[in-house]
Amino acid sequence: MPKSFYFLDQMNQMSPDEIREYQESKLKTQLRYCYDHSEFYREKFDSLGLKPEDIRSMEDLRNLPIFMRKDDERKSAEASLEKYGHPFGLHLCAPVDEIYLTGTTSGTTGTPTFSYTFTKKDMEFLSPRIAKRLSLAGVAKGDRVAFFFALGIYATTMTLWGLRELGALPIDIDARAGSEVFLRFIELTRPTFIACTPSFAEYLIKKAPEILGKEVQEFRLKGLLTTGEIGIGIPEIKKKLETAYGCRVYDYWAPCGNAPAISCDSDVYYGLHAIAPDVCTSYDDLVDPITKKPVDSDVDGAIGEMVHTNLQREACPAVKYAYGDVVQVFTKECPGCGFKGKRVKVIGRADDMLIVKGVNVYPTAIKNVISTFIPDVTGEMRVVLESPPPRVVPPLKLKVEHGSHVGREELPGLASRLAQALHDAIKIRPEIKLVPPGTLPKETRKTPIFEKLYEPYAGIRT
Ligand SMILES: [Zn+2]
Repeated sequence: MPKSFYFLDQMNQMSPDEIREYQESKLKTQLRYCYDHSEFYREKFDSLGLKPEDIRSMEDLRNLPIFMRKDDERKSAEASLEKYGHPFGLHLCAPVDEIYLTGTTSGTTGTPTFSYTFTKKDMEFLSPRIAKRLSLAGVAKGDRVAFFFALGIYATTMTLWGLRELGALPIDIDARAGSEVFLRFIELTRPTFIACTPSFAEYLIKKAPEILGKEVQEFRLKGLLTTGEIGIGIPEIKKKLETAYGCRVYDYWAPCGNAPAISCDSDVYYGLHAIAPDVCTSYDDLVDPITKKPVDSDVDGAIGEMVHTNLQREACPAVKYAYGDVVQVFTKECPGCGFKGKRVKVIGRADDMLIVKGVNVYPTAIKNVISTFIPDVTGEMRVVLESPPPRVVPPLKLKVEHGSHVGREELPGLASRLAQALHDAIKIRPEIKLVPPGTLPKETRKTPIFEKLYEPYAGIRT
């Protein structure tokens, strides 16, 4: 019996072409809706001399320029605040009093934007899809999910709706309360799942015995749900978490409520499985991170920056919105579970990409290679930049923490093995400085990947 992966049951029997036709049929209605209900989108189409009806296929959509990036969204929000007294932007398509849920991005850089803004109808559409995604990790009625993110100001809040839809009970604890409070709540509520960032899950392995006198394995979880960082895309991290917790770790994702996806029940990480292509075209519309020219996303292994276009969104539909996430797309059947749709691995941020001797290098790819040397290294590293990215005059400089058992006399050998492995995997030969464990601080939120030695505004790209 074919397994039911997609939220829409009919999609489980559809070919990729039929799924595309389904998306195209929704696209036309969505673009007309955006044109009619938002001055931002009307101006975009008008300036190109196009009407929404001119975009008939995925191909037409791919050939449209990018309409919005983060800075444009900020400007749109400032303009709507000025003109209408709300921060949801001129791309808001629904009446402002119809907004039912809003959440911002983390706001680590610049003014937060309310990119997660939904009407009730949007949430009624999205919640069962979020629920379906989490059900693939085994979450079901009666489960208690300790949910640890910065609530309200942070994007993941909408996931709570999906959990409730399943009949699971979220134990939502604001991440700003800290790890000790979180561990006490685990002790009190006995959750069956934990949802948090992978680096926080790693941190708890050390912290649980200190605070509770217990190993994390004693939580007897059915599963660990992680998001927000590349984490379990790195085999050593997946293995470390699964061994310590004694359960499967699932990676889930839905940037701005788009592209809901989850990894599968497999020892090997085969990427995020796109289980709801009826939400958006995010995995079908990729561009080169530098030139912004279309990349053919139907080719297995293609790498590009995702461009989001919603298909059935009411409040703030994304149309040709590039958030800056770079992914690698896989179109072949998943060897782990048999899923036939698109899968992606997150490669990094378009802003983080470096160009070393004409080769595009993502810091995450470097980190993946370095992590294969655990425990000879801790896994912590920084890319040292002497001038503003993306161009780097070789050699690329790295700081890597060596493992605690590695003696001084072993360091030169380790550095040259690391350099060789990086050359084999990504064709660069960096200069590696090994530093003692604990030198590069690990953050519970997003740990920086760069150490910048240049003046911050010297080479700003305009
Ligand atoms: Zn799979």
